[in-house]
Amino acid sequence: MVPLRLTVDRAALARNWRWFRDRAGVPAAAAVKADGYGLGARLVVDALFAAGARSFLVSTFAEAAALGPPGEGADVVVLHGFAAEEAPLAASLPWARPVLNTGRQVRAWASAFPGRPADLMVETGMNRLGLAPADAASALVAVPVETVHSHLATADEPANPMAEAQLARFREIAAACPGPRFSIANSAAVCRGPAFALDLVRPGLGLYGGVPHPAADVVPVVTLAARVLQVKPLAQGDPVGYGAAWRAPGPARVATVNLGYADGIFRALGPALLFRAGDRRCPAVGRVSMDMLAVDVTGTDVAEGDWLELGFDVPRLAAVSGLSQYELLVSLGRRFERVAA
Ligand SMILES: *Cc1c(COP(=O)(O)O)cnc(C)c1O
Repeated sequence: MVPLRLTVDRAALARNWRWFRDRAGVPAAAAVKADGYGLGARLVVDALFAAGARSFLVSTFAEAAALGPPGEGADVVVLHGFAAEEAPLAASLPWARPVLNTGRQVRAWASAFPGRPADLMVETGMNRLGLAPADAASALVAVPVETVHSHLATADEPANPMAEAQLARFREIAAACPGPRFSIANSAAVCRGPAFALDLVRPGLGLYGGVPHPAADVVPVVTLAARVLQVKPLAQGDPVGYGAAWRAPGPARVATVNLGYADGIFRALGPALLFRAGDRRCPAVGRVSMDMLAVDVTGTDVAEGDWLELGFDVPRLAAVSGLSQYELLVSLGRRFERVAA
């Protein structure tokens, strides 16, 4: 038994996904790369499939294989594309298709799987992945294309007009290439307005309780729980933890729980961590250790063996730590038992 739990609220996840779909007014895929942004791709896909999602984005064919079948009639889209040596793996995953980003990927896919559909990524200004717009037309001849994608560099900066410029460039490409669906919006772009929705949107962060944009209406999805290893009664002035960085301001009780920076609970988060013991709120105190941290449980009946809960408030923890919301989610460690509730 692992005394460390990460609970994914399926209803909250589904609610967030529906919010992005309804805001966009078009079908919504779900980005589940990096093991569902750290939450556990399998349970995320199962929850969102039940809510109606039918397209799931991963980074690699290896991630698609680890995920397994997404559900009847659903597909998995592989963002990093396809290399010839992945043909046996791709052959074993009939529900998966790559997003082809380069001419070499287009040729490799067309020759390994003639007539099998794929998606394309085209460059509109981010200069990360994607075919030059001039090469999209020949790719559309070589491969049956379901969706043409592009990706925005500044969707989460509401005052930055680069997103509109990328959208305008993408619309020109779309006008010249009738047939496939077109998609450019991540979570933040959906929030910017309906012009970005096009035929399909691709939210990720916002599904998991991250807030990508001031207009986003999302609810928290993740709750952590850790077990109390020991409780110590302290006198005024007694220090706690490395560096003796905290001292009891008066008579106190401090619980040591089995959660630390090896689990993604970084030192920089320490001052913002507020645990729940029943209806009491108990702050973390002192420095976070690798596998442990201290919680001030003064005035509660918290005892050895009890569980303390920690709502994982992604935007607040990002604001406090200076880490991105994405980094905080994907850093949640492998020791958590991931469960859906
Ligand atoms: C990760 C990713 C998304 C989702 O982005 P969020 O900012 O998490 O909503 C959408 N599209 C592509 C191409 C991505 O790589």
